[in-house]
Amino acid sequence: MIDESAIVNYTKKGIVFNIQKFSIHDGPGVRSIVFIKGCPLSCKWCSNPESQDGQPIVMFNEKNCIHCGKCLTVCTHHAIDSSVRGLINRKLCVNCGYCATICPAQALIVSGKSMSVREVIQEIKKDAIMYRRSNGGITVSGGEPLFQADFVAELLKACKLLGWHTAIETTGYASVAQLEKVLPFVDTVLFDIKNIESESHLDGTGKTNELILANALRIAITGSCNVVVRVPLVPNFNANPRCVHLICEFVKYMTGVKEIHLLPYHKLGANKYELLGREYPIDDALQTPEEEDVYEYKKIVEEHGFRCIIGG
Ligand code: SF4
Ligand code: SF4
Repeated sequence: MIDESAIVNYTKKGIVFNIQKFSIHDGPGVRSIVFIKGCPLSCKWCSNPESQDGQPIVMFNEKNCIHCGKCLTVCTHHAIDSSVRGLINRKLCVNCGYCATICPAQALIVSGKSMSVREVIQEIKKDAIMYRRSNGGITVSGGEPLFQADFVAELLKACKLLGWHTAIETTGYASVAQLEKVLPFVDTVLFDIKNIESESHLDGTGKTNELILANALRIAITGSCNVVVRVPLVPNFNANPRCVHLICEFVKYMTGVKEIHLLPYHKLGANKYELLGREYPIDDALQTPEEEDVYEYKKIVEEHGFRCIIGG
């Protein structure tokens, strides 16, 4: 009998901000998606801005607030300030979460908590039968999974021991050491390529793209896992025929990649910026791409010889 604890460090801890069950996206079959905190990019269209910081973060939902004033008295850092946008002075707040524990209306909540590999496995194991029946499994998303490479490597190793399919959804912005820790336990990499032009990439995401493109080639050439390229389609950033064409031309160099997913921009995460006391970084007037335009981009992808799925 295998001593699993000699193989997996089940006590290794990471910061997790959500576990989403029964997803039919982000990999084959029915899946659980484990969202972990921390991301080196800050994409203007990010729908999970609470994930960008690597630590738990307190959020304020004004709609739930009953103005009881309890939080005003408990913060020893004097960060609760009803005169600031979003109630919390982020320069003073240390995200200790204490105010959330006393709020009677759940107007203050903490996004993210420390969980061990064992705790995450216990949670996702409840749906193991679904993974088996649907050939599904686990996807680690974020944030950026490689940001917590040690934790994610142990988590995915534990999943492999249980015979589950594993996937990561990555920005590709990571060191070789981080990649090498995680990749041996990954069946499918969902790799985001956002823009081939580095200046535009910097403008949209806060980082240039050289490291990402190098890692895209690096992962593909190892041939150790299935790689699917995902492209968020964002107007005024990359949602135009030229950018889609350039991405396809690059992906041709990614050995073995056959599939590109197009993910049209949406505003679903916009309200979260408010909960964090932040301005939504994208112009409010910006609309999700027109359906006919998305089909035009799909056609471009297919003309380059790739299978194309809208969504993913
Ligand atoms: S999380 Fe802690 S530091 Fe921040 S506002 Fe609440 S009590 Fe104050
Ligand atoms: S404790 Fe909660 S409900 Fe009361 S004022 Fe503070 S945020 Fe609002």
